[in-house]
Amino acid sequence: MKKGNINVSVENIFPLIKKFLYSDHEIFLRELISNATDATLKLKHLNNIGEAQVEYGNPIIEVKLNKEDKTLHIIDQGIGMTAEEVEKYINQVAFSGAEEFLNKYKDSASDSGIIGHFGLGFYSAFMVAERVDIITKSYQDGAQAVKWSCDGSPEFTIEETEKEDRGTEIVLHIAEDSTEFLEEARIRELLMKYNKFMPIPIKFGTKTETLPLPEDAAEDATPETKEVDNIINNPTPAWTKTPTDLTDEDYLNFYRELYPTQFEEPLFWIHLNVDYPFNLTGVLFFPRLGNNINIDQDKIQLYQNQVFVTDEVKGIVPDFLMLLRGVIDSPDIPLNVSRSYLQADGAVKKISQYITRKVADKLTSLLKEDREGFEQKWNDIKVVLEYGVVSEEKFADKSDKFMLYPTVDETYFTWEELNEKIKDNQTDKDGNLVILYASDKDSQDTYISTAKEKGYEVLLLDSPIASHFIQKLEQTNEKVQLVRVDADHINNLIKKDEVVVSRLTDEQKESLKATLESTIDKEKYSVQLEDLDSSDAPFVITQPEFIRRMKDMQKTGGGG
Ligand code: ADP
Ligand code: MG
Repeated sequence: MKKGNINVSVENIFPLIKKFLYSDHEIFLRELISNATDATLKLKHLNNIGEAQVEYGNPIIEVKLNKEDKTLHIIDQGIGMTAEEVEKYINQVAFSGAEEFLNKYKDSASDSGIIGHFGLGFYSAFMVAERVDIITKSYQDGAQAVKWSCDGSPEFTIEETEKEDRGTEIVLHIAEDSTEFLEEARIRELLMKYNKFMPIPIKFGTKTETLPLPEDAAEDATPETKEVDNIINNPTPAWTKTPTDLTDEDYLNFYRELYPTQFEEPLFWIHLNVDYPFNLTGVLFFPRLGNNINIDQDKIQLYQNQVFVTDEVKGIVPDFLMLLRGVIDSPDIPLNVSRSYLQADGAVKKISQYITRKVADKLTSLLKEDREGFEQKWNDIKVVLEYGVVSEEKFADKSDKFMLYPTVDETYFTWEELNEKIKDNQTDKDGNLVILYASDKDSQDTYISTAKEKGYEVLLLDSPIASHFIQKLEQTNEKVQLVRVDADHINNLIKKDEVVVSRLTDEQKESLKATLESTIDKEKYSVQLEDLDSSDAPFVITQPEFIRRMKDMQKTGGGG
């Protein structure tokens, strides 16, 4: 037997990285700004623990375009690199300086917000650039600035250079096939997508700011203007703050920042904040949903240390929460892996369960603290909640604490209250509780009145997934049956000794029944004349609950 080492040569690896490492070429900017952010945060950290003594100031990251030279520049005021450090961190592909830093400062740096960890981000620059220069100067006293340059082949040059300020400038000589990244609009779009909430201010160009007029200015005075840095990001978004430091207005402002085209305000929100056994922060907003179920819109955004990663959250958050909006930020979600792996991943499962629990807790406290307000919101949130009960066992388990069951007259019962209310009047001969419901107030109006006259409560379950929800309720509650108000079962509820008065003679009834039955599908419907007493309706055509329900479920797809 012979043992050996597979020989990986850089010549082979480089084109692979270029081609396959990231399917999306545009992420190079995110990676380079992440590195610039890390470099700045590292300096901040070293300063904080006394290992560096520099004027930290208010560092920014600048992104600059030079169309003439066909270059894109990313400039930071972070720790910079010495020539040795360039050798170590840049020339070694897949060696992560970020990871090394976190390991070295394990005890103090875990909250530093440092982003990198695979040691591959920098090379994504070669997806769009034919040559990359690094001009860098370390923060250390008397450091010599160096310039590294590489055209994407394994050969590079490194030389001493002049640079006044500490920090790093990355210069991308944009390749012929990537000139889109020389367009200001395209770069702005990328910055808004990936970097909108990154922790270090990012400057892209300047903007004109109008100065306020002095108090004693003449009426026709024109205000002065000045050019200021155009900072594209909000370095401290709401989810990074402590909930007690935020007002309702702060949350609403953040919502507008996240969804600039959404004019309707959210109903309420949940601030997520956990650091054990995993790290996760975020804010989830409940929008007004009404009866809309639209799951495949990109509503929740996923971040890692304030860097946008994706808005495809399927498999990461429970499906029903995809109806909500907001942000989840967690360095513990392994986003570089396939979706099918994600679904099976233990950490992701725990995160999912945590979020579900937080949502259930919030709903419980809303109901407890402001029942009336909660009832008013019901119609706009019931879709999410019913969906949650149907699809998420952990959510269903807690649902008695926050689910409401509205009647056609807009009385809202909890499950317990409803049971209490109907237990004497609405049972069938086997002792099952029979809950009547309507799915549409207008078309089922006659049936509703009939039922109400008999003193029955009629729920209004009219969401698009009501049939699944009803099925789930019956599955969970053994001796409970839900029956739509126009189903033929309703008459089983009528007590035997009840006096039935009909306004038709027996003969009239027979002939009416025969006429009606000849016009309807007898397999699916039945005609009732006998048991209608004081109702305004001379007769009722009903449909067996199960046939109708099967049809409803087919309409909304899938089983319960
Ligand atoms: P990672 O960020 O995962 O560590 P990268 O390939 O993105 O890997 O970067 C490799 C290393 O190069 C970084 O860890 C860092 O040490 C160094 N580096 C990259 N960009 C900068 C920068 N702007 N300033 C200082 N060091 C940098
Ligand atoms: Mg990186």
